[in-house]
Formats: sequence, C-alpha cells, structure tokens
Amino acid sequence: MYKVDDRGYYGKFGGAYIPELLHPCVEELRRNYEKIISQKDFQKEFEQLLADYVGRPTPLYFAKRFSDHYQANIYFKREDLCHTGAHKVNNTIGQILLAQRLGKKRIIAETGAGQHGVATATVCALMGVDCIVYMGEKDIERQAPNVKRMKMLGAEVRPALSGSKTLKDATNEAIRDWINNPDNTHYIIGSVVGPHPYPEMVAKFQSVISKEIKKQLLEKTGNENPDIIVACVGGGSNAAGAFYHYLNEENTRLVAVEAAGLGIHSGETAATSVIGSEGIIHGSRTLLMQTSDGQIVEPYSISAGLDYPGIGPLHAHLISSGRAEAISVTDEEALRAAYFLSRKEGIIPALESAHAFAAMEQMDYEKGDTVVLNLSGRGDKDLATYSKYFEKFNEK
Ligand SMILES: *Cc1c(COP(=O)(O)O)cnc(C)c1O
Repeated sequence: MYKVDDRGYYGKFGGAYIPELLHPCVEELRRNYEKIISQKDFQKEFEQLLADYVGRPTPLYFAKRFSDHYQANIYFKREDLCHTGAHKVNNTIGQILLAQRLGKKRIIAETGAGQHGVATATVCALMGVDCIVYMGEKDIERQAPNVKRMKMLGAEVRPALSGSKTLKDATNEAIRDWINNPDNTHYIIGSVVGPHPYPEMVAKFQSVISKEIKKQLLEKTGNENPDIIVACVGGGSNAAGAFYHYLNEENTRLVAVEAAGLGIHSGETAATSVIGSEGIIHGSRTLLMQTSDGQIVEPYSISAGLDYPGIGPLHAHLISSGRAEAISVTDEEALRAAYFLSRKEGIIPALESAHAFAAMEQMDYEKGDTVVLNLSGRGDKDLATYSKYFEKFNEK
C-alpha cells in the first residue's frame, strides 16, 4: 500500500520528471536495478560489506536514563556507529556495487554539507574508481572539513558556481555531467529523492535499518513492533530506512521530524511538509517549499543535512495520507536536545539526529510506550556549532 507502483509513484507523488537528454541514463537504471540487487551474489557482497566494512548490525541500545526521564521504554538505533559516522554509507555501498555491475567506471555525486560526498568518496576509494563530487562554492567554504576528507579519500571536488552556489546548483551540475557522460558514469544520489527509481532504490538500501530493528527488538522485548519510531527527515533516507519494514504495521506509529529552523513561519525554515506545496523538484513530484510562481525557496536549518527545500515522495505520501505524523523542531530545541542527550547518555549526536530526539518534548505518547529513536549520525562534525552554545545550554 505504501510501496512504489510500476510507474514510480507513491500515491500521487514520485515519477520521473526529467529532461529528455537524461532519459537514457535513468531508463538504463530503472530497467536493471531490481534484477541486479535481487541477485544472490549482489546480496552476498552487500551484506558482507555492511558487516565487515560498515560495522553492521548497528546496536539497538536501551537508553535507561533517557527512558526514566521520559517515562517510556526508549531504544536508540545506533547508525552513528556506522563507518564514516552516519547511515549514508549504507546507500553508497549499495550503489557502488550496482554501478560495478552496470559496468560504470566513473562515479559522480552532489553534496550540500559534504556528508554524502564523504560517503561516496569512501566507497569509490574502496573500489578504486574515479569520484567527482559537485558542491556549491558557498558550501565548499562553509564545510571545509568534509572537503578535506573527500580530497584525502582521492575524490575531485568540483565547485558549482551558478545560482546561490549551494546544493541545488551542485545537483544541476551533476545532472549536466551525467547527460554528457551517459556510458561510463553512474550518478549516486544521496537520499530518497530524485527521479524514479532513485527514491525506492535508496529506501531499499537503507531498509537494513528497520530489518535489524525488528530482529533486535524481538530479541529484547519479545515483540518486533514498537509503539513509535521517530526519525529526522532531510530528504528522508534515514527515516525511510527506519520505517520501511513497518510501513504496513499500522499499530506502529511513524514520526517524521523536520527542521523548523528559526520557526515555521519565520521565513528561515526547512519545515517542508507544513509550509510546502505540491510541485516538482529534482525529477519527482513531491512537497516542496516554493513561491506562488513556482520558484524554489531557499531552506534554512542550523543542521546542514536537513537544509533541503523538499522531502522524498515516499514521505510526502506517508504524511499526506496520515500514515506518518510530521513534527517540526527549531534550531534551539535541537541544540537543547543535543546537550541533554550528551549529558544523559554520553552520546553526542549529529545535529540532524538531535531533531529526532527533541521530538520527545512535543510528541503524544502513553506512559510505558516502546519508542525507537533513529540516531542517524554522530556529532563530531558539529562540535564547532555546539561549542558556540556552551554557555546557553550548560545546565544539569
Ligand atoms: C544527511 C543526514 C541526514 C539527512 O538525510 P536523510 O536523507 O533525510 O536521512 C540526517 N542525519 C545525518 C546524520 C545525516 O548525515
């Protein structure tokens, strides 16, 4: 019911709205990906790398002090313990194996904050293939540590100089590159966005998260279904992975947490499902933030990974059909949650993940509910931001 249909739609969202010149590339992928990823040798290699290289399964951790505080049984899914520090590598491992089987020797990617660029550069180094990462010139300045990581890993970082010199411009450059190099190049998209088949393909690679949650929760509690699963949504890949095997378990509530930035109606926000409307972005029909004449509104969040003007079509469908609940969390609420989690459990979360944890303050739940919070990444990359607020949140 929530799975993609043959034409690439989740309800009315999704599809492949692409320029004609891109059609052969996307069509080649669409025709081949399901066959390839369902092959035994593909699955074997994927699972082996997830185990020995990424470090899966990641733990499902019962957070005792957190649970006492909120009067619920709270588990953290520890994607922060993945190699490279977040869930994004689950997808790039899957796509690099797919690219090899499609005979593609050259990889391109777009990145905003640089996390997806690092995850892509990592798997390209692992497989010994060329890697070109497009990144807005402004983001190259703002995200210097990740640029250095990509270069250390052997990737070429190409600046996007047009428009606002940020993620959407980097995406345009990557698409242009793909059109010019259709035969030898695979484009690794970093979230459940883009034209069909990307949203479903990325969701499938990330679905290892909920596959593991089911098994681990059954072992720990005797029931594989929690009452609630909570995850943050930028494009929506960690949430898609955490929700995937629960989509048809209607007794498990799915909570998608967006970045409200300075406030939903402040003009500085990324709360797409609240202030967005239907339109087309990066090749799919979905909810996005746009002006009345259809120009994309620049999003804002303190968290670079949530700073995206759309959400993936799966999430647009889940939220508009009522299957998932959307919650918006401001910069300040996320910062407070990051300090709280660090002091309560000894875990410094990524700013993105801190948004999911802050949702505990607004969400309806019953005392004693079992809640899984998806801890999508670790906070090392955000220490410079966190330390600016030390005085403000330095409380017991
Ligand atoms: C990139 C990123 C996100 C947001 O991307 P999704 O596709 O929505 O998951 C969330 N958390 C972390 C740690 C990230 O690096």
